[in-house]
Amino acid sequence: MVISIVNQKGGCGKTTSTMCLAYSLHQAGKKVLVIDLDAQANLTEAVGLDLEEVSLGMNVAKSMLEEQSFKIYPMEWSDVVPSSIDLSMVPNKFMGRIDGFYLLRNLIDEVRDNYDYILIDCPPSLEFLVSNALNASDGVIIPLQSKPLGIYGLNAIESYIASIQKSANKNLKILGLITTMTDNTVISREVSEELKNNYEVLGEIPRTVSVVEMTATNDPKGFFDGKSKAAEAYNQIAKKVMAYG
Ligand code: ADP
Ligand code: MG
Repeated sequence: MVISIVNQKGGCGKTTSTMCLAYSLHQAGKKVLVIDLDAQANLTEAVGLDLEEVSLGMNVAKSMLEEQSFKIYPMEWSDVVPSSIDLSMVPNKFMGRIDGFYLLRNLIDEVRDNYDYILIDCPPSLEFLVSNALNASDGVIIPLQSKPLGIYGLNAIESYIASIQKSANKNLKILGLITTMTDNTVISREVSEELKNNYEVLGEIPRTVSVVEMTATNDPKGFFDGKSKAAEAYNQIAKKVMAYG
């Protein structure tokens, strides 16, 4: 199953959620590949790859630009296709080509059967690269910060996904939202409620120091071993994902 983690807003928890779901699925015995489709390369760094080395070698951008099979880096808790700053060149090269929107799908098709789950950490946009990710995906997960501004923008994501469902990928399913960085403020609780009343919410991740520490130290093992509420919430979401197939 291929799942894109999408939101055009930066800082809403896409990379954190991708990392935690990948780790949790791995812990559950699943074979997982993560694809870092964000030129900021946060996930590439998080798994311990050297950014300079992978940008000189093979990475997702080079595979797309040269239409060459992925080079997969086997890391501790997941296989990885790393990012590179060259991702910014991909839209310019392929935007005018009708098959440009299927570059990622063609590359993923070569490895799809080798994995239980392929997670795509998307850039903060709703453009060419994200279209590529969604065209290759079976499902989408939308992390959303529990702030009014988090909800604002959800309509745009929904219509973007709907346009892809109508045209290039009729089988694409929204698996659900993840409400991130919830806390005890009235506004956060109101936003959480509103989302739960109107959408499929896979889980709520409290704002905790444990998540900040995990992203600062790139140590999902320590985070999950610590059994924080946030780690437990991600485990529950992974269970729901596994229930989908
Ligand atoms: P995105 O990939 O959408 O840009 P990130 O996953 O990189 O967002 O998260 C942005 C920042 O928010 C990171 O520094 C991360 O540590 C922090 N963060 C994410 N989730 C939580 C949480 N539940 N509690 C506290 N901080 C969080
Ligand atoms: Mg990110």
